[in-house]
Amino acid sequence: MPTPSLSLYLHIPFCAHRCSYCDFNTYTSLDDLKEPYARALADEIRQVAGDERRAAHTIFFGGGTPSLMSAESLGQILDAVADCFDLAPDAEISMEANPGTVDAEYLAAVRALGVNRLSFGVQSVISAELMLLERRHDFQTVVNAITMARAAGFDNFNVDLIYGVPGQTLATWQQSLEAVLALNPPHVSLYCLTIEPGTPMQRWLNSGQIEPPDPDLAAEQYEMACIAMADAGLVHYEISNWALPGRECKHNLSYWRNNEYLGLGAGAHGHAAGYRYWVVKQPRVYIRRIAERQGHYPWSGALADKIQLSAEDQIGDTMITQLRLLQEGVSLTDFETRFGRTPYDVYGPTLAQLIDWGLLTESGGNLLLTERGWFLSNQVFHRLV
Ligand code: SF4
Repeated sequence: MPTPSLSLYLHIPFCAHRCSYCDFNTYTSLDDLKEPYARALADEIRQVAGDERRAAHTIFFGGGTPSLMSAESLGQILDAVADCFDLAPDAEISMEANPGTVDAEYLAAVRALGVNRLSFGVQSVISAELMLLERRHDFQTVVNAITMARAAGFDNFNVDLIYGVPGQTLATWQQSLEAVLALNPPHVSLYCLTIEPGTPMQRWLNSGQIEPPDPDLAAEQYEMACIAMADAGLVHYEISNWALPGRECKHNLSYWRNNEYLGLGAGAHGHAAGYRYWVVKQPRVYIRRIAERQGHYPWSGALADKIQLSAEDQIGDTMITQLRLLQEGVSLTDFETRFGRTPYDVYGPTLAQLIDWGLLTESGGNLLLTERGWFLSNQVFHRLV
């Protein structure tokens, strides 16, 4: 059987400012490390690949704020990928970007490097919500960034929005949805805010400065979004993602299909060769480890730890990732080919009950979440792992 084509996640752990809700692996005062970090990332790609040229079809620069990296540094990293992997001619090369960090010249430069998809962290169009989230742009900056991106040749981009924000109402959420959809984005991702331990937002919550999130309001916001996206012609292809046909994020589809991907860069997580693994988080330690230690496929000398996946782990992961794909779901045939058993063999009465409760359905040989299941997906997944 040919080795499946890989997806490469490349983590860029730098931000200009830490947003109040953020618990990602990112740092705000390590500007001096950007160039050494790019060199280390290029070295890590070479270490991981070794002598074998594997096929790859997506690259995703995530962060952090990848758009804070110079085009030269991004080019250095992409050159390493091209040296070591057989990149598909139509490979999707995505980059997360903060709207306030890009200009026309930069966008043209990264487009010329082969980056062909941008993901803009917009989050809201309401000034008070952006201030609470400590995002440093306003909506006009978003409009300008998207205009410049289109002029630079980016016809494929995503816009992120956040709901469940303290103080957000159905009316302000509707304003954000309408304003963003008026820009005709080919792809929209929605995130429900979670207040993470150790973030400023959690301190504000604990001290009573902000209201706790209201799950009923969040469910109404999600429902409103589903209607608005459908009206805009965007297909609800994943629980939190909508796209014009053909503009689904190929990189994230690899995650949701539970395919293998390499995680490269400080704090990145990967899934390959029957393992889940992760890379050391701190950029200085990462750079030092890449220089001092060697690795071998699928990880480098900066490996932090790894877990070998059992057959049960892989089955559970496949169910909960593939069910996120609302149109595609879990193919019963593919599942049986991969694991030698059907989901009915594995889950027996649990699966029958989820179908009975109207949370899952079987259609065209695939198991799918029902519309009711979209809203209760966490409870469905909980029963499948
Ligand atoms: S831009 Fe993103 S990664 Fe950076 S601090 Fe804000 S939420 Fe975190």
